[in-house]
Amino acid sequence: MATHHAPAKNDDGGLEVLSTSDKNSGVRTVRIHRPPREDASFLPATLKGLGITLRHFAKNFFRSRDKGDIETIAYPEEKVPYPERNRGLHRLMKREDGAVRCVACMCCPTVCPAHCITIIPAETDDNGIEKFPAVFEIDELRCVVCGLCVEACPCDAIRMDTGIHAPPVEARGDGIMTKTKLLDLGIRSTATQGGEGANWRRPGADRHGQDDE
Ligand code: SF4
Ligand code: SF4
Repeated sequence: MATHHAPAKNDDGGLEVLSTSDKNSGVRTVRIHRPPREDASFLPATLKGLGITLRHFAKNFFRSRDKGDIETIAYPEEKVPYPERNRGLHRLMKREDGAVRCVACMCCPTVCPAHCITIIPAETDDNGIEKFPAVFEIDELRCVVCGLCVEACPCDAIRMDTGIHAPPVEARGDGIMTKTKLLDLGIRSTATQGGEGANWRRPGADRHGQDDE
């Protein structure tokens, strides 16, 4: 025998739920009334979205560019300067003699979450340093720009303070920064190798210059 329950109102949106059950068969049927046609239509939401778009268009179109309060700019003709602490394209820092500061300790490829740093170490007896990177490559297309490699480096050998971002490339391989390219962007660092003195991290230090004393 079928039992009919009184129609009930749902908490959300006032949907009317009708429930019936048949004790003999154990089958329970739930019927939900659809919302009115005008509520189910996308038209109001579409018109609302168009209104927001038109409002922003009119605001930007009629505002004076001299006021400096434009929300959009004509990129790439116009560019917004990156903030001081922006993480940009990597670079490898140099020692006093111009050699690469990296001692191939492998801290940065170990910490890199994107596994985009490739280092092949080689031995050297230069200035008491045991190792240097014979190969040092960063795949900028895989990099997630987290900055962990910079934080992990114990001797200020790698930075992301170039102020430029990775350029667009056509071929996959062009997204890889080789040791030569990374060193071309690098500057001399006076940070004490392997320890204290990473001056550029101190508040107020010159972002590009190592001679902030
Ligand atoms: S910024 Fe992050 S993802 Fe990019 S190379 Fe450094 S550690 Fe890897
Ligand atoms: S953490 Fe610094 S020194 Fe170590 S491998 Fe990376 S760049 Fe070289």
